[in-house]
Amino acid sequence: MSYKAHHERSIQDPDGFWGEQAQLIHWEKPYQSVLNYANPPFAKWFEGGLTNLCYNAIDRHLKERANQTALVAVSTETNIEKTYTYQELYEEVNRIAAILKANGVKKGDRVLIYMPMIAEACFAMLACVRIGAIHSVVFGGFASHSLASRIDDAKPKMIITAEAGMRGGKAVPYKPLLDEAITLATSKPEKVLVVNRGLVDYTPIAGRDLDYATERQKHLNDIVPIEWVDSTHPSYILYTSGTTGKPKGVQRDTGGYTVALASTMNHIFCGKPGETMFCTSDIGWVVGHSYIIYAPLIHGMATILYEGTPLRPDAGIWWQLVEKYKVSVMFSAPTAVRVLKKQDPAFLSKYDLSSLRALFLAGEPLDEPTASWIHDAIQKPIVDNYWQTETGWPMLAIQRGVEVMPHKFGSPGVPSFGYNLKLLDDATTAELGPDQKGVIAIEGPLPPGCMQTVWGDDKRFVSTYWETIPGKTIYSTFDWGIKDKDGYFFILGRTDDVINVAGHRLGTREIEESLSSHSNISEVAVVGIEDKLKGQVAIGFAIPKDASNVASLEAELMKTVDQQLGAIARPARVYIVTALPKTRSGKIVRRALQAVAEGRDPGDISTMEDQTVLAQIKQIIEQNPNKS
Ligand code: AMP
Repeated sequence: MSYKAHHERSIQDPDGFWGEQAQLIHWEKPYQSVLNYANPPFAKWFEGGLTNLCYNAIDRHLKERANQTALVAVSTETNIEKTYTYQELYEEVNRIAAILKANGVKKGDRVLIYMPMIAEACFAMLACVRIGAIHSVVFGGFASHSLASRIDDAKPKMIITAEAGMRGGKAVPYKPLLDEAITLATSKPEKVLVVNRGLVDYTPIAGRDLDYATERQKHLNDIVPIEWVDSTHPSYILYTSGTTGKPKGVQRDTGGYTVALASTMNHIFCGKPGETMFCTSDIGWVVGHSYIIYAPLIHGMATILYEGTPLRPDAGIWWQLVEKYKVSVMFSAPTAVRVLKKQDPAFLSKYDLSSLRALFLAGEPLDEPTASWIHDAIQKPIVDNYWQTETGWPMLAIQRGVEVMPHKFGSPGVPSFGYNLKLLDDATTAELGPDQKGVIAIEGPLPPGCMQTVWGDDKRFVSTYWETIPGKTIYSTFDWGIKDKDGYFFILGRTDDVINVAGHRLGTREIEESLSSHSNISEVAVVGIEDKLKGQVAIGFAIPKDASNVASLEAELMKTVDQQLGAIARPARVYIVTALPKTRSGKIVRRALQAVAEGRDPGDISTMEDQTVLAQIKQIIEQNPNKS
């Protein structure tokens, strides 16, 4: 079937299309309807059907694949490399599931996972969904303040962590950050399960902390029966940044997500059961949830979980793993490729990459020099794909399993099956024709696997995503885009205050709140500016209360962000200024700040109250340029 016919059918006959895709997974009890869209924009996929994500990822394969590799956990930080067969993965997951149950975790309870990239993190996620508990993985790079706000929103009964992660050969303690977060949070978990990797000393809190090795030993031979859940039962919450300082809990269902992921493995990623997939993301991000953990396992593949940087012990490490484990599908981010680009391409060409069919890249715009460089270095198709935490799987991609259409540089391709994508004029809401810039929107229902709602806040789901285009109930991606005459989309950046640093999505508002918490700050603004390596970096502008005491203020502000949000949110520079450019109604003109920080002409500044402010800021930047 051609791409066009395939896509059209998925939109015009969702019941027929997704009913067929649903056959890819196990249903303990058949669903009553493929789609219930009686209460838009809330879509219920496969309602009434009983299934389980863990069963589909592991148990279902045991008959055929018990001795096949399911998980390869590689750490170039600790030099530990361990392979688990499907049978071994099954046993490890059952042990954690038994620990959770023994500590009173039940269906619907939340379990927060704050862990580095170790095999136990994968066991923990699968153990949660096995018993119908809802996991919320928080990226290990987030610090106590971010963690506390997520704890208060998800209210986990239990938290699973490790005493430390490791990056670039240095141990990064996790436990003290978690302890501080729990102190800050109003909602306290009953238990904290700690995987002790022996990297740093830590003090367990009596009565609350459990040692994983000891607990595992107690449940070595336990088998925990599958908790069959309705297809619409939440499988996980994953927090993401938006325009307010309060992170949004993206809530995902069970059945729709499992079907969608299985379907993408056939239509987009084209891995085969028994082969190996290597996704270099982190379990703290949506790409990690979908393509390190769930999709490859649902599809009967082996998956590689990698702790370390792409450059240690040398820039050949990822490609060495491709050769060693005969990786057929690889998934990474443009930033990682830009890091490799600074190295000798011989590191890549030295390994036998014949098993590799394609390299998928997502998370941020893929610029042409980066795409060409990696294509020349590995001589494989480079498949840019565009999506968001909210959607859970690609919205735009060349769907190689449907039709191998030509790639166009700068475009992640065409709408994926199930996505009724529109380009709308943000002012008139009219649908736009070729080569006109507009907001990328999705006509409901969102396909299976996309967010169901914002955790605990249906109203916020509707008002944030579905009510931004006047007069229309349509999902906004908050991305600008353009479509060419062949239907290929090009992404032109966000419409809101979200920035993308090295593929990590950050809300400038969160960073502003953190900077404002410093006792000597009266007002701040944060903008994202272009960066050659990371795509974007954050730049702060801060007005001190006491201008006579600012010698170490920038360093203190950076430290504040490090401690509260984590180093990933640290701005490249915070300029200490005396005023911010504002409109007459008092709104900060971020667009102008961004322009001067990027060394561009700020354009029309006639609406500003005081036009000299921008000139002063420009001077400060020129005297102290951002060297990141
Ligand atoms: P996240 O929710 O962290 O995955 O971030 C999603 C955002 O990253 C999108 O809304 C886009 O702004 C950006 N993004 C993701 N993939 C791409 C891509 N292939 N090209 C351009 N931007 C992308």
